Amino acid sequence: MSDPQASPHGSRIDPFVDAYAARAAGMVASEVRALFAVASRPEVVSLAGGMPNVGALPLGELAELVAELVRADGARALQYGSAQGDERLREHICEVMALEGIGAGAGDVVVTVGSQQALDLLTRVFVDPGDVVVCEGPTYVTALNTFAAYQAQVVQVPMDGDGLVPEALEEALGRLASAGRRVKFLYTVPTFHNPAGVTLSAERRARVLEVCDRFGVLVVEDNPYGLLGFDAEPMRALRADSAGGVVYLGSFSKTIAPGFRVGWALAPPAVRDKLVLAAESAMLSHSSFNQLVVGRYLAIQPWRRQIKEFTEMYRQRRDALLESLEAWMPAGASWTRPGGGFFVWLTLPEGLDAKTMLPRAVAERVAYVPGSGFFADGSGRGNIRLSYCYPPPELIREGVRRLAGVIDAESGL
Ligand code: PMP
Repeated sequence: MSDPQASPHGSRIDPFVDAYAARAAGMVASEVRALFAVASRPEVVSLAGGMPNVGALPLGELAELVAELVRADGARALQYGSAQGDERLREHICEVMALEGIGAGAGDVVVTVGSQQALDLLTRVFVDPGDVVVCEGPTYVTALNTFAAYQAQVVQVPMDGDGLVPEALEEALGRLASAGRRVKFLYTVPTFHNPAGVTLSAERRARVLEVCDRFGVLVVEDNPYGLLGFDAEPMRALRADSAGGVVYLGSFSKTIAPGFRVGWALAPPAVRDKLVLAAESAMLSHSSFNQLVVGRYLAIQPWRRQIKEFTEMYRQRRDALLESLEAWMPAGASWTRPGGGFFVWLTLPEGLDAKTMLPRAVAERVAYVPGSGFFADGSGRGNIRLSYCYPPPELIREGVRRLAGVIDAESGL
């Protein structure tokens, strides 16, 4: 029998197409997600995804910890919890943030489903359609998707090797203020930036805080990579020097595992109250089970030693990437040199387009993310994000060798 909803081409027509809210129009699949299917083919070296290497976790110990949790505290682990999150876990989170100079009480922390949900809730609480959000250019792609879903107007401010340029920020905020626009917040990834691989210098941190304070603009500091530095002690967080003007977003996705989906927001009290209410309407409560597993993990595991092992692994991969870029890339290409995190931002030789080059790269069995996905206006076509977190060093080298061949061919060399 023929399906009355089917189009002549066999695809289903959506009978509710006229029923969606206007904001649903901003909800489109990200280029990065679309790439994952291609990049996960076994013959392709993927320098595209930002997936942490969870294979390096002590899985046997984790299994025992979970079994012990169910036996000893199962009734609590399997019950609803508070919308703000488990208090013991929030205390652990404060100990983690102290490593970046943050002094905070568990009462100001809201546990969220990854830091992604914290960003979603914050945008829900602050942004009406047409409101301005300022962020770095390039910026984290899923943050752009969140801002689009809430119909924000995104203004991107340039970066250089030391992160966000404070003069450019000041200029943008001045221009927006003169136009009578109320900027809802500055979204920034100051440490080991995704996708740019740069870190905001200490001197600039003070300048960014001062500029935002002067314009009365809230700072949203997204910091999932802060503890994954290769060479030095953790950078002092922006939040460490401004308790009233910064919402800090943290996550265990990169330091333990993303599958737990445990992240958090640390916010000034009035903002925290709004976030708790927003969290309640979004999910009633976070998974008690996942929160208690992570809480126990932090209490029992030598977690800081594990982070050291992780960073040593990622450092070797960063080195493999930088060395092979040095060895293989043609003249005219340039790239950032990250001190931590997962990403290198590559600028192609003049005239090349990362997006149109991608099919050729995939045919040569190497994948990357074109830079344009990290800009709201589609600029960045001459850029590429390279991730070194997942493939082992020898595959990274092979991937860069293939990529350099593609760039040479594209340049007509
Ligand atoms: N912010 C940035 C800058 C990220 O790179 C990521 C993960 N790729 C997130 C937030 C989201 O992380 P989570 O798993 O905690 O939601």
